[in-house]
Amino acid sequence: MFSNISHIFFDLDDTLWDFEKNSQHVLQNLFSEYDLSTKLKTDFNSFHTTYKSVNSQLWHAYSKKQINKQFLRNNRFDIVFKKFSYNNYDENLEMTTHYLERSPYGTHLKPGCMDVLTYLKSKYKLHIITNGFKEVQRIKLNNCGLINYFSQIIISDEHNLSKPDEKVFKLAETLAACKSDNCIMIGDNYENDVEGAMKAGWKAIWFSSELKNGQINKIEHLNELKNIL
Ligand SMILES: [Mg+2]
Repeated sequence: MFSNISHIFFDLDDTLWDFEKNSQHVLQNLFSEYDLSTKLKTDFNSFHTTYKSVNSQLWHAYSKKQINKQFLRNNRFDIVFKKFSYNNYDENLEMTTHYLERSPYGTHLKPGCMDVLTYLKSKYKLHIITNGFKEVQRIKLNNCGLINYFSQIIISDEHNLSKPDEKVFKLAETLAACKSDNCIMIGDNYENDVEGAMKAGWKAIWFSSELKNGQINKIEHLNELKNIL
């Protein structure tokens, strides 16, 4: 199924690095440090659910180039605050600063991550393509011991690009010195990682427990990669 593949490109957030878990840990601390239960009159779970929905809408708008990084950063907590009828723009900025400083130091990885990377590294060239912010992605890779597994670390933000733009995948081919036929992308975001890669003529594997119609290469656990690659 995957003959000719010699280069594997991984997404980082929520594919290898457990963004969800690491982020929740920081948000939980900020929620109590800022006494948000009193200010927002709610509990952490409902704050967190609202934050996740606001954040994913903003990231979607960012990947469509409808908003920039600054807007995303400086407004996400404010939008959440307002949903709980709380107005404090400055506190929102302060929280954003703390959130960005702390979150890349999280070390939770997706189950099986190291084991699978060790296995794959003996057979393939491994690389990263991430849409995350340049200021934090290298900290994450260094801090959780992932950095040495990868040859090319392509942070689209450093090139003013973002997945699913085909240009990111073409840039990756140049940097890794390979052809589209030899490339496979593995990631959790269907639009950015799977569709984006396939439009560039790559193979792709979707890491998700969601269902989708059609013929898609899909895994629900990273360990499954050992059986197919
Ligand atoms: Mg991701």
